[in-house]
Amino acid sequence: MTQHTRPAPYVRIATEEAFCPSEMLDIYRTILAQPHVDPGFKSLMGFYMSSPSERAQHIMRCLTDMDQIRIGHMDDAGVDMQVIALTSPGVQCMDTATAVSFAKFANDELATGIRRHPTRFVGMIAVAPQDPAEAAKEIHRGVNQLGMHSVVINSHTHGEYLSDPKFWEIFEAAEALNTPIYLHPNTPPANMIGPFLEAGLDGAVFGFGVETGLHALRLITAGVFDRFPKLQIILGHMGEALPFWAYRLDYMHAATVRSKRYDSVKPLKRKPSDYLRDNFHITCSGMAWHKAIAFTQDVVGEDRVLYAMDYPYQYAIDEVHALDGMDMNPVAKKKFYQTNAQALFNIPDALLPR
Ligand code: CA
Repeated sequence: MTQHTRPAPYVRIATEEAFCPSEMLDIYRTILAQPHVDPGFKSLMGFYMSSPSERAQHIMRCLTDMDQIRIGHMDDAGVDMQVIALTSPGVQCMDTATAVSFAKFANDELATGIRRHPTRFVGMIAVAPQDPAEAAKEIHRGVNQLGMHSVVINSHTHGEYLSDPKFWEIFEAAEALNTPIYLHPNTPPANMIGPFLEAGLDGAVFGFGVETGLHALRLITAGVFDRFPKLQIILGHMGEALPFWAYRLDYMHAATVRSKRYDSVKPLKRKPSDYLRDNFHITCSGMAWHKAIAFTQDVVGEDRVLYAMDYPYQYAIDEVHALDGMDMNPVAKKKFYQTNAQALFNIPDALLPR
């Protein structure tokens, strides 16, 4: 039973929740001590790992816990299940060999935590895009041996984007195994971050969304979904603003194709917004705002919009109360909180906590 949030006629499944094995912090400390540190990584993890502020200390404590602290917070907020991913930037800031081996370690750790709390936790498979063949293998291992049914990739990897065909082995594996990829934010890469960093807007406040929205759009314009029509990408933060842009993206993409202005802008089989509707799922992580949720349901359909809290970065119980109180028909609300997540992350009724 929850302490502060009332039971509801649906199970609340939060779908963009983060964890961090303490061993990853040891690797991050080594990276932060190097002479040339990526400015985004330094801004993000350099802050959280060293700040004495209450917010940073709280987040670090929660990130590394997979038992009492996390479950206590879930109970207080009325969150029945968390779909958990290795926190950003995961292994993507590491050298290739370390990234490949640590992704396996982190997935094993997550699987162990899930085995302790099988009705509360669901996992996403972390991969190292630095080695696409190994990443594809890890997706297979995660699905077949660890029982996970989704993948997390924290946007760019050392400034490179998955729109580059050299990464498409990852999409091939994900599509073949019916495994959605959560394209989670990262700080903007070194060649983009300058004006964001100067204004203190590089992180979750705005830079994350700009960078990840760009990444998702690059997948569309590179023709990823013409090549992998069944591939499903999950975006947090209300689709990183892309649903709001859909009209202009369609108009200007068609105009750019006609003008032959860029070699990189090729004709697609469909309009950009068609891919948004058929190849994306969108969560409300960090955006507990009914108007934005309703708009996104209108653009991509109520079967593709899901609840997420963004624990522990945005642990706010009053947001659950606000979302419970949304003026939304009961069928759509149950899809939002529960059944869309069950379908997307392959969570059978038998695993639900009540
Ligand atoms: Ca997040």
